[in-house]
Amino acid sequence: MKISDNVRMVPVPEDQPMRPTSTNIYIIGQRGGQTLTIDSGEAIDKFRWMLRGYLAAIDHSEIGVAAITHHHFDHSGNLKHVNEHLKAEVAVPENGVKLLRGRLPKDGVKTYADGDTIELDGGIRVQVMTSPGHSVDSLCYYIEEEGILFTGDTILGNTTSVVGDVNSYMASLRRLLELPNVQVLCPGHGPLIRDTEEAKARDRLEMYVAHRQMREDQILEQLQDGEPKTSWQIMEAIYGDTIDKRLRRAADGNVQAHLKSLQKSGVVKASRGVKKRPNPATVARSKAKETANRKIIQQGKKLDKAQRNRILAQQENPPTDQWKTPPSYQLR
Ligand SMILES: [Zn+2]
Repeated sequence: MKISDNVRMVPVPEDQPMRPTSTNIYIIGQRGGQTLTIDSGEAIDKFRWMLRGYLAAIDHSEIGVAAITHHHFDHSGNLKHVNEHLKAEVAVPENGVKLLRGRLPKDGVKTYADGDTIELDGGIRVQVMTSPGHSVDSLCYYIEEEGILFTGDTILGNTTSVVGDVNSYMASLRRLLELPNVQVLCPGHGPLIRDTEEAKARDRLEMYVAHRQMREDQILEQLQDGEPKTSWQIMEAIYGDTIDKRLRRAADGNVQAHLKSLQKSGVVKASRGVKKRPNPATVARSKAKETANRKIIQQGKKLDKAQRNRILAQQENPPTDQWKTPPSYQLR
C-alpha cells in the first residue's frame, strides 16, 4: 500500500486481539535507491513472503537498512532473516540490544539513539526519536518534509496502546505533539491515521493523552472509598464487560502502570503482596511435560515434512505404487 512516493506499508493480517487487524512493516526509499524498512514482523513465513512481495513490487530484492521501533518479537522477529537473505544491515535501539538477545545477526548490527538521522537516496531524511513508555526502548521515525511519523506501538491504528511506564509514555506523547508537521501516523498495528476533513492525525496524539488522563481519574475514583484493592479488581470495575476477555491481562498491566506512577508521585501506597512459592516437584513435573510436548511437536513437524517430500518425490517418479505392470501402448 502506497503512503507517498517514497513510503509503502506492508500490512500483514492478524487475528490476535493484541494485534488489531494487522502487524505493519514499512518500506521507505525511492525505486532503484537504497531501502530502509521499519519493523520486520514475527519470525514466520507470512511476514517474510509479504515483505519480499512488496519489495519486488518496487523492483527491490534487497534491503539497505532494517530498523525496528522496539524489541518486541512481533517487530524484531525477522532481523536475522533479512540480514541473511535480503542483505540488510540491522539497526536497533541503543538500549534495546540486551533485550534482543538471540534475535540479532552476529555482524551487521548498528544502533540508533535520539537525534540520529538516516539519509536515503533522493534526499529522504528520516529522523530517529526515542519515545519510551510502551517499552523502554521504543523509537519513532519521522520524515518531517512529508509529515509522516512511524509510531511503532506508541500509537496504534484503532485502539489505545499497552503502557509499561505511564510517566515516560506521557512525556513521549507530549514530545510527539510538538513535532512541526504531522499528517500521517504509521502505527505498528492497524490502519494508518491520516489527516481528513473531519480530524487531523495529530488529534489522535491528543486523544491518547486525554485517554490516559481519563484512566488515571477512573483508577483514583475506584480508590475513593478507602478500601485497598488489587489492580485486577480495579481493572474489572473500570472495564467491566466492555473489553475482549483476552485483553484483560493487558488492561490489568495498564492499570498497574498507572498505579506505579501514582505510587511514585505519592498519591497511592501499596501493600507488599506475597508471592507464591511454587512447589519444586510441581515445577519439575510441568517442565518435564513441556519437554515431552515439545518432542511430540517436533516429531509431528518431521512427519509433516517427510509426507510433503514423499508427495514431491511421487511427482517426479513413475507410479510404481499403483501398478505392478502399467499398461503399455503401441500402434495397431
Ligand atoms: Zn510492542
